[in-house]
Amino acid sequence: MSIELMMKQFQDIAYNPNKQLADFKAAGKKVIGVLPYYAPEELVYAAGMVPMGMWGSNKKTISRAKEYCATFYCTIAQLALEMLLDGTMDQLDGLITPTICDTLRPMSQNFRVAIGDKIPTIFLAHPQNRFADWGLKFCMDQYNDVRKMLDKISGHEMTDEDIRKAIKVYNASRAARREFVKLANEHCDVVTPTLRSAVLKASWFMLKDEYTEKLVALNEELKKLPKANWKGVKVVTSGIVCDNPKLLAIFEENNIAIAADDVAHESRAFRTDADETGDPMLALAKQFANTDYDVLLYDPASSSNRRGEFVANLVKESGAQGLILFMQQFCDPEEMEYPYLKKALDEAGIPHIKLGVDQQMRDFGQASTAIQAFADVL
Ligand code: SF4
Repeated sequence: MSIELMMKQFQDIAYNPNKQLADFKAAGKKVIGVLPYYAPEELVYAAGMVPMGMWGSNKKTISRAKEYCATFYCTIAQLALEMLLDGTMDQLDGLITPTICDTLRPMSQNFRVAIGDKIPTIFLAHPQNRFADWGLKFCMDQYNDVRKMLDKISGHEMTDEDIRKAIKVYNASRAARREFVKLANEHCDVVTPTLRSAVLKASWFMLKDEYTEKLVALNEELKKLPKANWKGVKVVTSGIVCDNPKLLAIFEENNIAIAADDVAHESRAFRTDADETGDPMLALAKQFANTDYDVLLYDPASSSNRRGEFVANLVKESGAQGLILFMQQFCDPEEMEYPYLKKALDEAGIPHIKLGVDQQMRDFGQASTAIQAFADVL
């Protein structure tokens, strides 16, 4: 199969999650919606069910969700609820609602009220202090609650061995995605920003073993190609979600390739693996503890601006000339972190622009002008 066809398959899945959900249900699978961030999807897989990422939608309009949400909730959270209320995703068998930011915490209760008993909601509170023994213990307790709820939904008890197997499947998937983003940089003439986004996005809607098999095959084909002789510019993207095909098309119109990303929906989600041996629940809690350089996670050494420097290094090491930050409207964690990121980028002499975005964005004129002007100065 050609590389183009392989990427087209990922694109079809990335743009049609409701078809994926319908196909899984028709095949007799139970499907669990997983909201951002850092839910232990491995437990869903270990329970023999399908985890389905819910990161809002670029296609929907917020309508019914307004009844349950404050107007200042980000569109990602509101559109996730909209899809449950408008019939797009209401075939789910359960929903995991992590509560890592100030929007998701109240939103976990809004989901519960809005969908009632129709879809069981599984509340998940990660610890702020995730490194200390008691932080790990708290995380394990939370994950054990999730495990019990998933057992109830699936109708049977998953074993520790089931979870260890799921961890292996997920580690392999994370490794394949890390390799893909490197290959996408080397072959940015073939893997355009739109295709790069679609390949990574599809991972949220597929069983990870099936996804990894396809991605490894794509990676192998990409490795056979000569490295791109790229005459355009390269950037690193940063933010929560950068998957809007209309925005990414602007990159392509201006010969901008994506060298690497610091995006929650993309690389931040697959940077950290879990131990494949020992107590699997402890391994998953440690995996969360070992996750780092994310605006959503407490950093006891934050005064040193470790995250800002990490992102600045990512720009340098990936060979990018600048950074484009997609700032989600009403996202407090990203907005509060921005001055620190700016400081680190300025100190490293890395140019950047900040674009305000949300998933209800329909006019891209302003973004187009800003991206074009940025490309011209790089
Ligand atoms: S975009 Fe920001 S406010 Fe919205 S769910 Fe994510 S972290 Fe929370």
